[in-house]
Amino acid sequence: METTQTSLNESEDRKATLASPSTASLDLILQLVHGYWGYDTLRPLQEEAIRATLEGRDSVVVLPTGGGKSLCYQIPPAIASQTHIVVSPLISLMKDQVDGLIACDYPAAALHSGMTADEKNETMRDLKAGKLRLLFVSPERLVMPGFLHLLSQLDIRAFAIDEAHCISQWGHDFRPEYRQLAVLQDRFPQASVHAYTATATERVREDIAAQLCLTKPAMLVGTFDRPNLIYRIVPRLDVHAQVIEVIRRHAREAAIIYCLSRKDTETMAGALKKVGINARAYHAGLSQSQRNSTQEAFANESLDVVAATVAFGMGIDRSNVRCVIHATMPKSIEHYQQETGRAGRDGLEAECVLFYSAGDIMRWKSLFERSAEDLDDAVHIIAAQTLLLEDMRRYCTVPSCRHCTLSEHFGQAYPEPDCKACDICLGETAAAEEATEIAQKILSSVARIQRLSGISYGIGHNADVLIGANTQAIRQRGHDQATTYGLLKGTPKKVLTQWMYQLFDQNLLSRSSGDLPVLELNEASWEVLRGNRKVKLMKTAIETVKETSISTISWDGVDRDLFEHLRNIRRELSEKSSVPAFVIFSDRTLRDLARRRPTELIMFKAAHGIGDAKVKKFGKRFCLEISDFCREHSLSVDIVIDPNSASETAPAAPSPTTQTNTAKITAFEMFAKGKTIDAVMTALSRAQTTTAGYLCDFIEETKPKSVEKWVSKSIYVEVAGAADHVGFDKLKPIYEHLKEKVAYHQIKIVLAHARNHQE
Ligand code: ADP
Ligand code: ZN
Repeated sequence: METTQTSLNESEDRKATLASPSTASLDLILQLVHGYWGYDTLRPLQEEAIRATLEGRDSVVVLPTGGGKSLCYQIPPAIASQTHIVVSPLISLMKDQVDGLIACDYPAAALHSGMTADEKNETMRDLKAGKLRLLFVSPERLVMPGFLHLLSQLDIRAFAIDEAHCISQWGHDFRPEYRQLAVLQDRFPQASVHAYTATATERVREDIAAQLCLTKPAMLVGTFDRPNLIYRIVPRLDVHAQVIEVIRRHAREAAIIYCLSRKDTETMAGALKKVGINARAYHAGLSQSQRNSTQEAFANESLDVVAATVAFGMGIDRSNVRCVIHATMPKSIEHYQQETGRAGRDGLEAECVLFYSAGDIMRWKSLFERSAEDLDDAVHIIAAQTLLLEDMRRYCTVPSCRHCTLSEHFGQAYPEPDCKACDICLGETAAAEEATEIAQKILSSVARIQRLSGISYGIGHNADVLIGANTQAIRQRGHDQATTYGLLKGTPKKVLTQWMYQLFDQNLLSRSSGDLPVLELNEASWEVLRGNRKVKLMKTAIETVKETSISTISWDGVDRDLFEHLRNIRRELSEKSSVPAFVIFSDRTLRDLARRRPTELIMFKAAHGIGDAKVKKFGKRFCLEISDFCREHSLSVDIVIDPNSASETAPAAPSPTTQTNTAKITAFEMFAKGKTIDAVMTALSRAQTTTAGYLCDFIEETKPKSVEKWVSKSIYVEVAGAADHVGFDKLKPIYEHLKEKVAYHQIKIVLAHARNHQE
């Protein structure tokens, strides 16, 4: 609690210069954002949302998952020195948020049923003493009469309602207990209420405002596009093999595989385990403790792959999920957006792969019918669900940009002609060559078989005829005599059936309804057969998954081995302090550290997402690890990256060579004039190791007679003597031979000079 106090005072100091919180300058906001979280800029709409709260104006803030909603309610109470209340639907969400805030020394706490009486008492004490900036509670607890009374005595000025779509029955996650929040406006007329959600539709937005009785709320609606997600839709052939292939692209990274049924999750997890991938199933049929254990393992990164039903949902706060797979098509674009939304919350690239088969439609339709069986207006409910399903089907089958289609579905225009982040724009789903000819072969075979037998057959038998299979059914019916028998010999049957499904989707071939659907030609089929209509068919496998520019940029300059090493340290720290790994550092921060490789605190703080508290807590340890690692692997350290190029939109800075070069040139000029390392270091604001590195380069290039200006004679003699003993190649043996008394950089300088004279 002590550390919490310190930073509270600091933020109050910052605030002292302020006349009224509602006029807080952007600078002040950024100071806090930088101090607590180490971020340099605000994301779209964050400032507007923060200002609405500071001005006491109700608001509805709609930002996509990962858009940074939390910051919008974290900053205002810190500026105004108040306590604000956050309503959150799940204990796991509250816990993660509070853990994350405490790690940054931000004064926050939660009250929930999972806490001991002592913990609750302590929180109550802090609340009453005004020590907290944020208190997280469930809606049920908030509306308890005693609690409302307490809050009204504390003069609470703002309520943030997280996951606010839960209040609307038009949302995908309606929770009746959210309805009671309508009392807030009545009970706290002096307070403002702020709703936060990622759910896009206007109907839900309006409903939220109405249900919460908001007064002229500021409607802040962000862009729904998630530029860091790469969308791929692939026809489903052998789903286990296909999923394994995708998971292997993300070795050691977090992935969620959404399956339609509980049984599917079990068989999927089983198939993955068989090939050595550590995966677990998650569904509502498991016991609470089994589910908790899987959630926890996933959060603390001891488990990376979960095969789950949609029950694995809102509580998943792991920000470095790099891959979300749908083994079956979801039932609406809204669900798809929500589920893929769990990928890449840290803003780094992530992949979303959906395995689609036309059979998914049938499966959903029969599920709709079964679950609506006992309902009064079953017809309407099924009709509404079928419409949403149709949108989803179109999204899967129409070959246009996925980012664009999704944005337009949510009523937003997509300005880019090429998203560079979907299978279509990356050209991975180029139409099968000679698609029209293939379609003609399929259709003519269907016609031929029908004419031969007088009746039609299903998809399987028709495919067998085309590939020239030797089955009993074919022999019995004499279909091996048909002129189309074996017309597509050599095509795998699964590929061929997928083409047939694509023909259904484009209405170029029909299927009868009923339990045993048979193939039928329609008007359009005849147009194709007569050569009056061109056909497009998609390739049926990802033959080449392209590296996308988003991923190459965000890994630019990152030493992947160092990144892995830092991940291990993060895991160790996370286990030691029992908080999720991402509470310590996000992947984005680790990548930036593995790019900049800071060995000193000042350089450490410059990396993305490191606020004051984290410098204190983890700075020394990480700098030491980085310095050791880089020495062992001969990596350059303390690389300076221009802050302007490391902006939010370009996830990582481009190669730092230009900045480094200018600094190096200045350093060379100064060394030539005989300046000391300290002087050059200060002039360039570079770390000692970096400056010493420049000096070694300088010595190697200019071959000065002596290095006395930088290393004393006695040390020179000692180091050179040690090198004679243990060799000139490695620093460590020399360092140890000299009983760790001479600094590494001095050894390096001597060696650089000595080598000149060896040659
Ligand atoms: P949401 O609740 O909207 O899904 P979060 O609030 O969890 O999103 O934020 C997603 C991630 O983005 C978090 O790791 C958060 O710390 C980070 N973030 C938020 N605002 C900023 C910002 N201005 N600059 C950089 N990172 C940010
Ligand atoms: Zn695209």
